Amino acid sequence: MMDTTSNLIVSSPNIKYTDDFIYSDYEYEDTLVTRNKNELVAKPYRTSLQIKTERKIGRVGVMLVGWGGNNGSTFTAAVLANRHQLSWNTRNGKLDSNWLGSITQASTVRLGLDEKGNDVFVKMSQLLPMVHPDDLVIDGWDISPLNLAESMVRAKVIDYDLQQKLKKEMSAMKPRPAIYDPDFIAANQADRATNLIRGTRYEQYLQIRADIKNFRDKKKLDKVIVLWTANTERFCEVRPGVHDTDENLEKALRANDSEISPSTIFAMAAIDEDCCYINGSPQNTLVAGVVERAEKRGVFVAGDDFKSGQTKLKSVLVDFLVSAGLKPVSIVSYNHLGNNDGKNLSAPKQFRSKEITKSNVVDDMVESNRILYAEGEKPDHVVVIKYVPYVGDSKRAMDEYTSEILLHGTNTIVVHNTCEDSLLAVPLILDLVVLAELFTRLSFRPNVNQEWTPMHAVLSPLAYLLKAPLVPPGTPVVNALFKQRACIDNIMRACLALPPVHHMQLEHKVP
Ligand code: NAD
Repeated sequence: MMDTTSNLIVSSPNIKYTDDFIYSDYEYEDTLVTRNKNELVAKPYRTSLQIKTERKIGRVGVMLVGWGGNNGSTFTAAVLANRHQLSWNTRNGKLDSNWLGSITQASTVRLGLDEKGNDVFVKMSQLLPMVHPDDLVIDGWDISPLNLAESMVRAKVIDYDLQQKLKKEMSAMKPRPAIYDPDFIAANQADRATNLIRGTRYEQYLQIRADIKNFRDKKKLDKVIVLWTANTERFCEVRPGVHDTDENLEKALRANDSEISPSTIFAMAAIDEDCCYINGSPQNTLVAGVVERAEKRGVFVAGDDFKSGQTKLKSVLVDFLVSAGLKPVSIVSYNHLGNNDGKNLSAPKQFRSKEITKSNVVDDMVESNRILYAEGEKPDHVVVIKYVPYVGDSKRAMDEYTSEILLHGTNTIVVHNTCEDSLLAVPLILDLVVLAELFTRLSFRPNVNQEWTPMHAVLSPLAYLLKAPLVPPGTPVVNALFKQRACIDNIMRACLALPPVHHMQLEHKVP
């Protein structure tokens, strides 16, 4: 059963609703394992937690870095098409707008069971107050001067008839000038880089702050989220004394240090304007100094790299293989794509950034099973990306997974995935914004005598949406997709004083 319209009310002594907040008294349970000579001792424990969710969302703005790109223009088109409930004609007939691919708008969470023992599901966005996509106010920057209607035409993603319906509104949207450093993105991007903020890095940082302020004031926004969907940069060379602390980063910015990347300047400016910053590309924008800055200012950061096609499938398939007791020994991934992202990634340094985020994705699954893998042993894992203009935004991803099976047999799975890149990435951009905004309204405390504190500044619960999830220093990285999804669902349930979903369904199994 599914109910997408009703208001959800939790009836429990552990929840309290006020006009402004939802308060949850929650018992967080896990098992502490200690080693005692040849014994592993597992001891269940409970931690009491109070969770407070602010109910008022306010007006939310999104600023996209790379607004005029395929993702940026498609995101804008999708928000407008849904807001105006547009339909358009194609050779397959009339089609309507939707948000397929977004977990907040198009997926459900199991709420519980009804009197007959049947599961009851609700749309994820019904669980807690979340910003509605129609209410998002969009702005952004691009090194290319085209307006959003022109960018949409250049992207070749949106159906022609829908483009015609969106053209007027989108032609009035023009990206703000951006920071261009030819040392960080591929040389083949130079011809579009004409919409630029000149000056030193510090002057560029000040301009980005001024842009955010201007957008916030002009549109009377309560919150602005800044999200990088611009070209993949090369990794910056992380240097002690430059990137390692907030103070050093500030000094390096003012000294115009050439290893401070444009994306790091955007992140610093966003944090200083109290805006959550999300990195949708693979580069190492969120260096230690940026994370420290976010922690100090109480602002959230999240990254890295949208997990849309090939990697999403990999984080399901390898989890399945390893948890089935099969041993993946070789994972080979080929991609070819013909959009501007592919063109930029055809340069070796930018490809290297992508190769890194794509490569670490199976590590946690491998490490979870020492029966299959000895300490330090890993499957061979190769990632190839080629630029083939003809296929445009319809990225092809071809993967071969070879596993050792019983008594040294082998099992090979081959997958061909036509990704329609931007149409997969855009719903992730929406979810990143919607969920990040929700997480800004949560606070936690162990008991009534303690202060409320926000979540950690590094928003690791967004890992489901990201290829190489950034986590708070020293904490484990989870790449397995369904664990990441369970994390999001169960945090939301905790905010409502509901137990985690365990899938035992004992009511159907125990007489
Ligand atoms: P795109 O090349 O179409 O768009 C990127 C835009 O960024 C361009 O318009 C470019 O002019 C602009 N730009 C470059 N440097 C800039 C800067 N310093 N400041 C402001 N604007 C700048 O690429 P896309 O397909 O939209 O992808 C965007 C990013 O998202 C890429 O880095 C890509 O690797 C990443 N990504 C995409 C997907 C996906 O589409 N499925 C998945 C994971 C990651």
